[in-house]
Amino acid sequence: MQLVWFKRDLRLHDHAVLTKASKRGSILPLYIFEPTLWQQPDMSYRHYLFLKQSLDDLSQTLNNLGHKLVIKVGDAVDILNDIKECHPIEALWSHQETWNGWTFERDKAVKRWCYSNNIPWHEPAQNGVIRCLNNRNGWSAHWYRHMIQPILQAPESLEIIETHSHSIPCHTKLGLEKDGITKIQLGGRREGLKLLNSFLYERGENYTKEMSSPLSAFQSCSRLSAHLAFGTLSMREVFQACEKRNNEIQQRPSIHKGRWPSAMRSFSGRLHWHCHFIQKLEDEPSLEFKNMHPSYDGLREDDFNEAYFEAWKQGKTGYPLVDACMRALTATGWLNFRMRAMVMSFASYHLWLHWRKPALHLAKLFTDYEPGIHYSQVQMQSGTTGMNAIRIYNPIKQAFDQDPEGLFIRQWIPELQEMDQAYIHMPWQAVSQMNGYPMPIADEKTARKAAADKLYSLRKNNNTHKGIADKIIKKHASRKVKKRKMAVKKQSNDAQGELPL
Ligand SMILES: Cc1cc2nc3c(=O)[nH]c(=O)nc-3n(C[C@H](O)[C@H](O)[C@H](O)COP(=O)(O)OP(=O)(O)OC[C@H]3O[C@@H](n4cnc5c(N)ncnc54)[C@H](O)[C@@H]3O)c2cc1C
Repeated sequence: MQLVWFKRDLRLHDHAVLTKASKRGSILPLYIFEPTLWQQPDMSYRHYLFLKQSLDDLSQTLNNLGHKLVIKVGDAVDILNDIKECHPIEALWSHQETWNGWTFERDKAVKRWCYSNNIPWHEPAQNGVIRCLNNRNGWSAHWYRHMIQPILQAPESLEIIETHSHSIPCHTKLGLEKDGITKIQLGGRREGLKLLNSFLYERGENYTKEMSSPLSAFQSCSRLSAHLAFGTLSMREVFQACEKRNNEIQQRPSIHKGRWPSAMRSFSGRLHWHCHFIQKLEDEPSLEFKNMHPSYDGLREDDFNEAYFEAWKQGKTGYPLVDACMRALTATGWLNFRMRAMVMSFASYHLWLHWRKPALHLAKLFTDYEPGIHYSQVQMQSGTTGMNAIRIYNPIKQAFDQDPEGLFIRQWIPELQEMDQAYIHMPWQAVSQMNGYPMPIADEKTARKAAADKLYSLRKNNNTHKGIADKIIKKHASRKVKKRKMAVKKQSNDAQGELPL
């Protein structure tokens, strides 16, 4: 029996593991709910909800083929042992997973178990991330080659071994509490396909222009991140759908192309970034816990202000756009890139909080939490990579630029609903209308300058900073690639364009 372990690849389509394993004989399709994983500080109720919907969808697809997804609850090694007692396992199959420190350790335990039981563990790659990479030269070409491979069709029939299945455990059994989400994004492959289609054929035309404002981004961005994080869609199928759409657009006369070419270029570039960032964590798992550049160790740790952290988490810093974003994120599980960068930058610079606790809080709030992207971005926005330009977002300027009339602010901060238009971005100038909304917890200009001074002086005065930064660049930075017709062209003007060198 070939044991197919579904992890973050909850689909039958373009599923290398399923395709390869099923060619060898009967399979047992398994998903393991690991209670200890759900107790980790980056896991939350909203992840559970999205996963549950995605598993229901996967089960339904298997049911249509006359089969059942086997759900087990427990420690992975114990579950594998139990299964082995009833069904001799010829091989274990799962996609390579680059996830958090806990799953990394669990995979090491599973590897030891496979070794001592003489069971081969086959782990094909599921996206463009390369395991045991020697260096970054040629990485983009490898990524592109992976993306243009033919898509594997979902099997029409399978030979499946039946065994006892648990039901999906209730969230309380996993120790999860409801977390303020009111508009959860729907999980499952069918939802993912609907989003992909509506983005490429209806919603996406103004993507490049509208991705940065929280007013338009909820609609104009693809919203595929959670589906990519849980693998209800494969990166390759999204990439190829985008290429196909772009080719169709290119056939049109210029006046009928509209803004689609730019949108498709920006989108395709971001798909590449997805794997580019995860590759960093694959190459350096300590990124989740430690500064990428050690010269920043000790810079913020001792100054951690719990009251600031609480105010930031609750959306009560006194800066309307920051607070609206934190409240919107709590309620919906999503924010666009620019606003994620701004709230992280505000925590790291204006409030001078070490990134680790804010990162865990955001990880719980993002339905699409993907450690490889998350920790790389968090460190970029906190200035601890040593290789990126320091970028400190001014939350007042961002509010004027991205929400000029304060519509997003009024939507998420009821206290400011009646505030005069003239003061919506700086309500402290109209104290009588603040309606319980707090005064700013830190002075924007003073705090920004103090943070910048500390960072720049560290870079300037630390003799070893440059030498270490050069090594980091060599290990993690993307290399210049020849422009391809479509993928990975020059990046857009958004701050995401701060791709390392
Ligand atoms: C502090 C911070 C934390 C972040 N944490 C996460 C996270 O946990 N999970 C996550 O998926 N993204 C994360 N991002 C990146 C980005 O904000 C989201 O991928 C994006 O907002 C998701 O929305 P979308 O699917 O509509 O993206 P689109 O703009 O439609 O982009 C399409 C896909 O490209 C990828 N992508 C887009 N932007 C980036 C980027 N800057 N870096 C890497 N990949 C990108 C994502 O897979 C995304 O789904 C983070 C950004 C910041 C600044």
